[in-house]
Amino acid sequence: MGKSSHTIKYTWEEWVTIEEHIDEEFTKYVNKSGIPCGVDSDVRKKCESLAHFSHERSGENLMVVDMQGSVHSLFNPEIASKELVDGEEVLFSIGNLSLTAINNFIEHHTECSFYCTLLRR
Ligand SMILES: [Zn+2]
Repeated sequence: MGKSSHTIKYTWEEWVTIEEHIDEEFTKYVNKSGIPCGVDSDVRKKCESLAHFSHERSGENLMVVDMQGSVHSLFNPEIASKELVDGEEVLFSIGNLSLTAINNFIEHHTECSFYCTLLRR
């Protein structure tokens, strides 16, 4: 049995993340501060409905924000949680802007789209 010339040695001491390369235009639809951004597109409305839905379904404890990508290929979302810490641990990640993001979204999402109504069923 021979060795492959493509053998990669892994160690469990390092973590690496790899992201898919996107050739198309990259757009931010809802930033990590919870504010919808860019043009008022169909994709942005869907992202806003996901933020709204996640907030409602979590009992207003968290919200998915920071949605960006190319059309329906979205990357690097953040979770904003009502409580920022649990004991000494920061919940989710350093990008968790907690109630700042949640309250910003509520302030800026003044009108639900068709997609919000679909998720309420
Ligand atoms: Zn809504």
